[in-house]
Amino acid sequence: MKRINYKILWVNLTDKKLHEEVITDNILRQYLGGYGLGARILFNHIKPQCDPLGPWNILGFVPGVLTGTPAVGGYRYTVVGKSPLTGGWGDANSGGDFGPKLRKTGYDAIFVEGVAEEPVYILIEDQKVQILSAKELWGKTTYETEDLLRKQYGEEIGIACIGPAGEKQSRIAAIINNEGRAAARSGLGAVMGSKRLKAVVVKGTKEVFVHDRQKAREVEKRCAKGLTGHVVMLREFGTPAIFVRCVQVGDAPIKNWAGVPEDFPHPEKIGAEAVKARQKKRFSCYRCPIGCGGRMKAPIGPYSYSSKVHKPEYETLAMFGSNCLNADLESIIMINDICNSYGLDTISTGACVAMAIECFENGILNEKDTEGLELKWGNSQAIVEFVWKIAKREGIGDLFADGVRIAAEKLGQGAEKFAMHVGGQEIPAHDPKYGFNWALAYRMDATPARHTQGPGMPVAGIPMPELNRTSQTGMQPAYKLGMCLTHVINSLGMCLFVFWAYPHGDFLLDTINAITGWDVSYEELFVTGERIANIRHIFNLREGLSPFSFKFPDRIAGRPPKDRGPLKGVTINEMIMDKEFFEVMEWDFETAKPSRKKLLELGLEDIANFIL
Ligand code: SF4
Repeated sequence: MKRINYKILWVNLTDKKLHEEVITDNILRQYLGGYGLGARILFNHIKPQCDPLGPWNILGFVPGVLTGTPAVGGYRYTVVGKSPLTGGWGDANSGGDFGPKLRKTGYDAIFVEGVAEEPVYILIEDQKVQILSAKELWGKTTYETEDLLRKQYGEEIGIACIGPAGEKQSRIAAIINNEGRAAARSGLGAVMGSKRLKAVVVKGTKEVFVHDRQKAREVEKRCAKGLTGHVVMLREFGTPAIFVRCVQVGDAPIKNWAGVPEDFPHPEKIGAEAVKARQKKRFSCYRCPIGCGGRMKAPIGPYSYSSKVHKPEYETLAMFGSNCLNADLESIIMINDICNSYGLDTISTGACVAMAIECFENGILNEKDTEGLELKWGNSQAIVEFVWKIAKREGIGDLFADGVRIAAEKLGQGAEKFAMHVGGQEIPAHDPKYGFNWALAYRMDATPARHTQGPGMPVAGIPMPELNRTSQTGMQPAYKLGMCLTHVINSLGMCLFVFWAYPHGDFLLDTINAITGWDVSYEELFVTGERIANIRHIFNLREGLSPFSFKFPDRIAGRPPKDRGPLKGVTINEMIMDKEFFEVMEWDFETAKPSRKKLLELGLEDIANFIL
């Protein structure tokens, strides 16, 4: 029987040497691809304490074992490396078609080492690999880069590239594919820029490994037909569907997280219906039967955004909308266009804008600093201009282009109290006081301040206890299982939205087993997720980071608590939450190290010998 394995391409940009490595079936089963496999490989290969923007960092593009197969939802790849934003483990994933197309080259993942002397891009055509000059592409936007590369190599290629923000090593830079699907978090666009790697271009005709194609197709058909839950809502509106409600219940950030719903009285102006009215057509990743994305109609206001611009996601609406008290949808579409074409993370950039406004309102910045921009709440034109400055690293934008933590350090004068980050990464648009699952995810995960970690929505038939998101205590055992499952789904290369719409949990097992030839159970998958959580965590321990380094700003924790609004009186008690989480993870509450027993159970003996 032919077994699944991963053929990895290693590219060293310093000496232009290439080599291949094969990851065998048994290792793959333990890590699944994506950031699971990425963390296992980079733990062994990245030089501890290396500069994330220096030659010793390694950048990986890693699809999961389900990416590009008939698995419903298997469309994603993960970028991995040491994060220049947090100084610890970094990953970010993206949909579109780059992941599936990468696997069609015959390579299942690419790891890039070293630094090129001059700007380059990597071209892989069915395992023929070339490192080519990107001099003509350097300085171009992601849109221009994709256009030029498609003109040269054809419409069918897959491209992951950086824009000018990544080239200038902005620590909030994203890696973009399909003109607006973004591997945005962890600042990995800056790592790509530091390597002078403008793009990875893939063109392949090979079949992605599927153990039993007939069975996989049959499961795919039944699963796609039965997709349930939020499918209708996602198809019609995409993620903006939740925006208005999130504002009303206190989940979405308002006024740099200090506000309450009455401060942003008309969220519907930038809500789902308003966004849908401006949408030209829907956008789907690869073969996705949901298609939650969209492309927008031509501008109707003062802004001249591109016809390529994608529909703003919930996070983008919240970070540049309610968080900046900006109810002007056209300005947010324009900002989405800037962030996608220059290659910026909209969550981090939105946090920078809100912080800058608060600094301006409190006299830490003035009009001389902003070169005449009146950075006030809701001043949509000034907000757009400020985003341009960040994207180009111009003037005051340069100061904010490395995220809020560095901006606060440079500004001084108490600016840090307006910098809403955890461990250097800007906080996404779900309030951890609203759902205490976020309170754990934002601090306990190896990539702090991430809303795609921790437990997701329940799927029928998966043997898991119900998670009480409204309690700070007692929920940790259920949280742990949900978190482990999310690590599994992410590492498999699946879209979380699609998985949460699965009609029954058995479809996941049937899909994995038909595609890989394994016989996994949920029991095994929970252990796999725990292994992945631990290896990312230990990567951070080696860098001197742990959940204890990841602190909430007082405003986020509710110290003092809000005196009005839906979250009135709520304070996060980190001590209680952490202690119970550490107990269920079997991590020492002094050192944050996992117990030897736990690491041996997870098959991480080499790691146990290293850290204990
Ligand atoms: S649900 Fe949306 S994000 Fe997920 S794969 Fe489909 S189109 Fe992409």
